[in-house]
Amino acid sequence: MISHKKIYLSPPHMSGDEMKMIEEAFATNWIAPLGPHVDAFEQETADFLGVGAALALASGTAALHLAGELLGVGRGDRVLCSSLTFAATIAPFYHKGAECVFIDSEPGSWNMSPQALEAALEDCARSGKTPKAVIIVNLYGQSCDMDPILTLCNRHGVPVIEDAAESLGARYKGRQTGSFGKFSVLSYNGNKIITTSGGGMLLSDDGEAIARARFLSTQARDPALWYQHTTLGWNYRLSNVLAGIGRGQMRHIHQRVEARRRIFARYAEELGGIEGVEFMPEPHWSVSNRWLTVLTLRESPIFVLERLAGLDIETRPVWKPMHLQPVFENCLYYPHGAEQDVSADLFRRGLCLPSGSGMTEEEQTRVIEGIKEALAAARGKTKS
Ligand SMILES: *Cc1c(COP(=O)(O)O)cnc(C)c1O
Repeated sequence: MISHKKIYLSPPHMSGDEMKMIEEAFATNWIAPLGPHVDAFEQETADFLGVGAALALASGTAALHLAGELLGVGRGDRVLCSSLTFAATIAPFYHKGAECVFIDSEPGSWNMSPQALEAALEDCARSGKTPKAVIIVNLYGQSCDMDPILTLCNRHGVPVIEDAAESLGARYKGRQTGSFGKFSVLSYNGNKIITTSGGGMLLSDDGEAIARARFLSTQARDPALWYQHTTLGWNYRLSNVLAGIGRGQMRHIHQRVEARRRIFARYAEELGGIEGVEFMPEPHWSVSNRWLTVLTLRESPIFVLERLAGLDIETRPVWKPMHLQPVFENCLYYPHGAEQDVSADLFRRGLCLPSGSGMTEEEQTRVIEGIKEALAAARGKTKS
């Protein structure tokens, strides 16, 4: 019998360097939400992305929350956000009582449609309600089409928050993602391309804003001998132990990107010839980190998901767009075209495949065979 170790979508991939960093933290007793690993992790990440300042945090969601805080997003303020994403992108703004408006994807990159964004921004200008932020998402490790999006946002005077939680190591026209927003956000959750088991980073060229975020994320303690507060904050810092894991992971980011791109290339080669099977495209301006390989079928892929689950292989449908979520049923939505709801279509037909950088060739063969069998079985059924 063949071995049946479960194949996960995107499990952590340790190198060994992480443990050395953890041991260093223990040896020096820096077991706190600050310390030399935190400082170095922030600096190394800022350098890697080419951004002025970075703040290590307990999660990507905390980083998004602080970005909203720094931009003064409050009750009734409007924010525009990519619809095709994970709920954490918008949750902190929803909790602030902001009016959430969702923007469709474009078919070429699956990310925010510049033409839908333009329609939304023009409506905002007409009604005299400038959004407080546009939140863009680099989905599944691929950059948005930054140039047209940033041009539109600049023209309307709206700051951009870049949710790069999934796209560390990906590039747009040669430049690292996570460096385009007024504020950019990374995540080190357990399923991301690198992980600290849980964590995040807020980045900006505005060093004063990052200093403010540092203050707010450390309980907003005024510089006094006693505990004094002119405002109140949050406890959002990343521990020095976890920052050590992050430093060990960062040393291998290039290999992790290469491994995921190689995994994508093999899926594309082995399955791309099958009728009806397509993969997330990569525009000429994009070098995706291929965090997850995502394919689309002509019909719902749930039968593939179920068959692979039976083989102990984890797959997932594409994110259910925010404009289709019950919690946002009363929110405005701008589709890519009058009759073209791109994100809804991707949700209906898309499936994320196991893409962990530590996946072996044999494991990937198991996934590929499983998909081929599922597709052949489905074809047999429709013929009979
Ligand atoms: C993972 C993720 C987040 C949230 O990051 P956490 O570190 O889990 O809080 C936000 N946005 C996107 C697109 C994500 O994939």
